[in-house]
Amino acid sequence: MSDIIRLLPDAIANQIAAGEVIQRPASVVKELIENAVDAGATDIQVIVKEAGKALIKVVDNGRGMSETDARMSLERHATSKLRTSEDLFAIRSMGFRGEALASIAAIAQMEIRTKQEDDDVGTRIVIEASRVKTQEPTQCAPGTSIDVKNLFFNVPARRKFLKSDPVEFRHITEEFARVALAYPGIGFSLHHNDIEIYRLPPGKLRQRVIGVIGKKHNEHLVPVSEETSYVTIKGFVGKPDAAKKSRGDQYLFVNNRFIRSPYLHHAIRAAFDEMIASGAHPLYIIYLEIDPSKIDVNVHPTKQQIKFEDEKIIYNYLRVSARHALGKYSVTPSLDFDQERAFRPDHGMRPHDPSGGLQRTNIQHWDKLFEGMQNDAEQVNTLTLQSEVFADDPDRIAPADDKRNAPYQLHNTLLISQIKSGALVVDQQAAHERILYERLLKALDVENPGVQKVLFPLTLELSAGDAAVFKDLLPLINGLGFEVEDFGQNSFVIHGTPAILEGGDEKQTLLDMLDKFKNDLDPIVGNKEKMARALSLSTTTKRGTFLPVEERQTLIDVLFACENPYTSPSGRKCFVVLELEELLKRFNKD
Ligand code: ADP
Ligand code: MG
Repeated sequence: MSDIIRLLPDAIANQIAAGEVIQRPASVVKELIENAVDAGATDIQVIVKEAGKALIKVVDNGRGMSETDARMSLERHATSKLRTSEDLFAIRSMGFRGEALASIAAIAQMEIRTKQEDDDVGTRIVIEASRVKTQEPTQCAPGTSIDVKNLFFNVPARRKFLKSDPVEFRHITEEFARVALAYPGIGFSLHHNDIEIYRLPPGKLRQRVIGVIGKKHNEHLVPVSEETSYVTIKGFVGKPDAAKKSRGDQYLFVNNRFIRSPYLHHAIRAAFDEMIASGAHPLYIIYLEIDPSKIDVNVHPTKQQIKFEDEKIIYNYLRVSARHALGKYSVTPSLDFDQERAFRPDHGMRPHDPSGGLQRTNIQHWDKLFEGMQNDAEQVNTLTLQSEVFADDPDRIAPADDKRNAPYQLHNTLLISQIKSGALVVDQQAAHERILYERLLKALDVENPGVQKVLFPLTLELSAGDAAVFKDLLPLINGLGFEVEDFGQNSFVIHGTPAILEGGDEKQTLLDMLDKFKNDLDPIVGNKEKMARALSLSTTTKRGTFLPVEERQTLIDVLFACENPYTSPSGRKCFVVLELEELLKRFNKD
């Protein structure tokens, strides 16, 4: 039989390579801007027409190319950025694979004009489907200007799969934003169909960030800055109240390269744990600097994935840095700022509790729990609410016993309380879960949490699987104030329950807790938190419980004395604020 293997002609090989690098107009924008950055440009202009389907033009004032290099740049695997294989692990440039220009030239009509500073004339090359049509000297400014027209004109199948202009243009602004955020020292502009979309002068990082994500976010940005010998972390995280329902501005850069990493994203998200609702997406723009020999960027043609020598270390540093930043700025809810002090946790219940932990009142019903709270809350009140903060305007928040302004309970579900900017609306169940959760965590830290003995010991029979889990948890369970004994053979005997819990069906409580615990797959929090979470969820009051007037303000005060008053342990919001202004607007004529 004759031999059948042949080398592919360059044009076809390039087209195949293009399939990986160039998926859509936005990929062209990315590659061209990155080349301009690598060429040392200080000013980069991007001009697109019809979402890049008709034209993508990138003009830079970088170092330009010689005539030979301009021609060479169009060959596949032609690059000025890599010489030896060791260079692969010392990469500082955006490009290094030498594929982009060859790929684009294979699937579009491309025109390059380029000139080096010291040359008298520049070079103009026109290339179409990998075929050079023109190569000639030309007059042009120093730097490089590349036009890409009619992308995928010779690959109709690809062209057909492009999305609508708005969608494709959104991809373009996204790629543009990613490079612009990585290089605040470079000026960028973006025009679409002759309309200026972005003009970003060179400047400081914060300026660039708000230039890209919008001025309104300026007040939300909390700086992150951490330096270790292994990695440097800087940038910004958004305050919790800037978190959005849809995944918005989340940027992670490694050595100025935007990367996608669900794992590291998780690290940042974890820093927000419990500060934002479980479905919300925090805002962040974070830059990691790490020795290039500790990472491998050559794992994907678009270079948006990176392999780290030790990803766990990075994970931990990231999480801690973001936490630290959020903590330093002691992020407060967007309530009135003159109430802020009253709501700060350090005015909360703990400092006034001589036992340093749980109030060891021997209560059985959760409504009695309020008795303990009342004391805490009174202290919060006398300490801050009345004496300092509202001294100038006692009418602003009336004392809790003033029926006129006491919080209103709506449908036995929500508490509505007047605050300076409007109304604070508290979900009583979420609030109660939060309070109980923090108390349970505290209970785990003290030596003898209050135990309420049961009259007759109860036996709990579990399946072998559940029993194994339960056994492991036993120290924690007893640490919470249960008195449960391992009886062997998958059975356990209950002698007592935590004093802070509502009395009731002890067996069911434990079973519910075990069930919730098993279903809590959160990889971040430890067993201790999970236990407290499971128990608080299975024992708090359900919606629809009437709260006496005196207890409403107490619940609110104690909620805000919590370390994290924002969300319930299961991630639901504990309160929302209705701005008076917003409400009044709704009365306006349209
Ligand atoms: P890579 O960026 O991976 O090296 P490209 O195909 O994107 O591969 O570019 C090939 C080469 O062309 C680059 O290595 C560079 O030398 C040159 N080049 C591309 N764009 C520019 C530009 N805007 N200014 C100067 N040189 C450029
Ligand atoms: Mg490149």
